Amino acid sequence: LSLQKAKQTNELNAFVTLTEDEAENHAIESEKRFYIDKNTKSLDGISIGIKDNFCTSSIVTTCASDMLKNFVPTYDATVYSRLRNAGACLIGKCNLDEFAMGSGTVDSLFGPTRNPWGYTKDRWRITGGSSGGSAVAVTSGACVAAIGSDTGGSTRNPAALCGVVGLKPTYGLVSRYGLIPLVNSMDVPGILARTVEDAITILNTIAGPDVLDSTTFKEPFNPIELGDIDLGRVRIGIPKEYHCQGMSKEIIETWSYVIDLLEKEKVKMKSVSLPNTSVSIAVYSILNQCEVASNMARYDGVEFGLRTKEDSSTEELYASTRLKGFNNVVRSRILAGNYFLLTKNYQNYYIKALQLRRLIHDDFKNVFNGENAVDLLLTPTTLSDAPLFEEFTSKNNRDQCAYQDYCTQPANMAGIPAVSIPICLSKNNLPLSLQLMGPRLSEALMMNVAKHIE
Ligand code: GLN
Repeated sequence: LSLQKAKQTNELNAFVTLTEDEAENHAIESEKRFYIDKNTKSLDGISIGIKDNFCTSSIVTTCASDMLKNFVPTYDATVYSRLRNAGACLIGKCNLDEFAMGSGTVDSLFGPTRNPWGYTKDRWRITGGSSGGSAVAVTSGACVAAIGSDTGGSTRNPAALCGVVGLKPTYGLVSRYGLIPLVNSMDVPGILARTVEDAITILNTIAGPDVLDSTTFKEPFNPIELGDIDLGRVRIGIPKEYHCQGMSKEIIETWSYVIDLLEKEKVKMKSVSLPNTSVSIAVYSILNQCEVASNMARYDGVEFGLRTKEDSSTEELYASTRLKGFNNVVRSRILAGNYFLLTKNYQNYYIKALQLRRLIHDDFKNVFNGENAVDLLLTPTTLSDAPLFEEFTSKNNRDQCAYQDYCTQPANMAGIPAVSIPICLSKNNLPLSLQLMGPRLSEALMMNVAKHIE
């Protein structure tokens, strides 16, 4: 059924590859366990999608790029092997912006993914990104849950625009092994699901130490349970800096509406300040581009993926492979990153950005600790509902693109968990969502409160 649904919704372009054989084999194994062995696994019969920047052995893994168009990994990402071991059936690999650079899923080798909300053939909206394929895999009904990646908001942003739950776990809680890196110091696997409860089930399956990723926490992960929480003891902060320019009136109203509701339920709500939020877009961009410049150096036409014919010299081979293999977004980030890393710029850009990142991190630490501490923060996820494709890709908007991540990327720089929860529909009949953030490893409380808001 899931495969059928995926095929019916083909024109939304959620999947880069449909993994029919894999899905059928898993379904048969699940049924055998159920009917013959009477011994089922926790995710038996659950259909999942995985963003195409996670390695899957024997299944092509493209990063939606010409560079890796024919790349077939020999190993599985830990996230996938854990889901498969729990019985989940992989339906397909999901579309993304090339190498997960973007916030629209409009810059993919395979063309844009379309948002099913308000969709017509001639007039449709973006899904958000870069995990737009994973969001649509869930919202269209093809998959119960999907895995995305979140470096600056790529799981929460499409979740918000497509009306599903999007969870970015604490950095180090879920293994990055087999996730093709964008920004190693910020990347985390993310979860997209229809409900908070489903997202918890997936998190409980994939979280925990992994010897293959030295940045995972060493302590075993205690599975999260939903329970009765005493809302009267929960303190939620509303960071005033998140009231930013360009935020739509409807988003602000939705935010106030939920604040009022929580107050009525005796949650202690209070205004807090994260003073360095305003520099965070610039800091994110510099750090992102520096790490991209370093990460993309491996794609040189020698070891992985594409190799062009032009090989009169090694330098020419590199240059022509990278010209053909990467889109403009990737190439411009490589250029900018290398510029920031030049000896003469290193101190002024890279080191400065690292220092500011520390201040952004400390802003969170200050609001979550001390006498006036809060337990969680409540903010919007995106600045508006899903824009039309033409609007989003217009030149003017492209220049503003980084701004889309205003509310999401600070959590990546601080390594803290965050979840986007769909709240209501806008006057255009499109989803509007809010985000909860908490201190490191506060997923249990955060998801319990999210369940309450949902
Ligand atoms: N939009 C951000 C970027 O392009 C975030 C990407 C992500 O989280 N993968 O860098």
